[in-house]
Amino acid sequence: MNCPACGTAMTEMTVGNVKVQACKGGCGGLWFDEWQLGKVDQPDQSAGEALLNIPQNPAVKVDQNQRRKCPRDRDIVMMRHFWSVKRDVVVDECPKCEGIFLDPGELAGIRADYKSDAERHQAAKAYYDEMFDKQLAGMLRPTLLGPGARGRSGCARRDSNPRPSAPEADALSN
Ligand SMILES: [Zn+2]
Ligand SMILES: [Zn+2]
Repeated sequence: MNCPACGTAMTEMTVGNVKVQACKGGCGGLWFDEWQLGKVDQPDQSAGEALLNIPQNPAVKVDQNQRRKCPRDRDIVMMRHFWSVKRDVVVDECPKCEGIFLDPGELAGIRADYKSDAERHQAAKAYYDEMFDKQLAGMLRPTLLGPGARGRSGCARRDSNPRPSAPEADALSN
């Protein structure tokens, strides 16, 4: 399987119970098949430490603006989106097989986002509560509450999803 970012043949690595394709000696990127990234995306999942420094070839240049094709199915163009509601790391995800490609450094960024599932749930809940409150405020009192107003509805809370589908980041890549 070839790296979707630089085309180098990827090397399979097994860390803990996770199988990963690493672009060793290429751009240093990582490919996770469906569900695999969730096993190493928090710092309390120590197996992931082995994936933080994949040897790179500094001569390999990657065009970050180029849309990437799924390495499992070259007909599919991957989507770019934020990994979490913190909106700091953008990942490439295949809409068909749900595999995820990370550039070097992105796994470290993802692992720095949340220390634990509890913290992740908390952040997602706060994010969706705020979104929901803003929407509700906009619907009910569009003139009295300005765009910056933050109402607390107190009722009808939307349940937070532990892995919310993160907002699209396509605007960033153009
Ligand atoms: Zn690569
Ligand atoms: Zn795919």
